[in-house]
Amino acid sequence: MLTYYTKLLRDPVRMKKVSRTCSAAHQFYFSSGGPSHIDTRSTLKDGPTRSEQEIDLLFNNNKLWASKLSKEYRDQMARKQKPTYLWVGCSDSRVPAETVLGLKPGEVFVHRNVGNLVANQDVNFHSVLHYAVGVLKIRHILVCGHYDCGAVIAALSNTDHGFVDHWLRNIRDIQRIYQAELSAITDKDARVRRLVELNIAEQCLNIFKTAVVQKARAESVATEGEPIPQIHPMVFDPVTGHITKISVDWDKISGMFKDVYQFEEIAQPKTGNRGNDSSITPPTVDFSMRDIQWYVDHN
Ligand SMILES: [Zn+2]
Repeated sequence: MLTYYTKLLRDPVRMKKVSRTCSAAHQFYFSSGGPSHIDTRSTLKDGPTRSEQEIDLLFNNNKLWASKLSKEYRDQMARKQKPTYLWVGCSDSRVPAETVLGLKPGEVFVHRNVGNLVANQDVNFHSVLHYAVGVLKIRHILVCGHYDCGAVIAALSNTDHGFVDHWLRNIRDIQRIYQAELSAITDKDARVRRLVELNIAEQCLNIFKTAVVQKARAESVATEGEPIPQIHPMVFDPVTGHITKISVDWDKISGMFKDVYQFEEIAQPKTGNRGNDSSITPPTVDFSMRDIQWYVDHN
């Protein structure tokens, strides 16, 4: 395959064909709002196969993109990353973090999985979170789900989805917690949308429960005067392209869990480590969940 690309890049005639394909694809994207596409109806005998065209598109896109980078930008990228945000989103291809936020590479640290879940046993996610909070010192965690989420729709159905059901059970557990509210919604689409929002809220809560986040927030109250990182629940609408803050009945959620997870206050030993040394009298730092930008909407 590499030989093919080497030949391609050295062949101006074939490169021109690929460029035309890419150009058409971009025109489709920007004029219709839909995804880029490749015309695979005709393939020359000695030309690239459909699969090769599909990959050519990416390499050619990248070539064009890289050629437009300014020296200032490349110098910036040559230094180590210092993103302000951690994005926790769904794997759905319609919700790319940098694109929908209008950010550039280097500005957002990203974790995505099916259903934008924060699962307790997910070593991948917790490694990302630990690095983002502990090393990169990111200031905002954006938990962004999206309407028309296939994971939420699948979780709400009583169909056997095979292996993925193990993962979807995280969403079904949320459905169980809010069963009364959800079953009272008769419109199926509205029920899906509500579970999307509840899922986002619960994943924010799951992040807040982690020691690395609680510790960082407690320490930043002392050093910066406000808890960092802040956690933001938000939802993306693939139809409009808009991201909105979601409304959460935080009183209900906090009432259910605050005595379990101790997130009203946290003990910080003077050594900076959370130990059991009874000779240390740890200061108490109040960082109510209300500091998180929850928007209680209970009309
Ligand atoms: Zn999704």
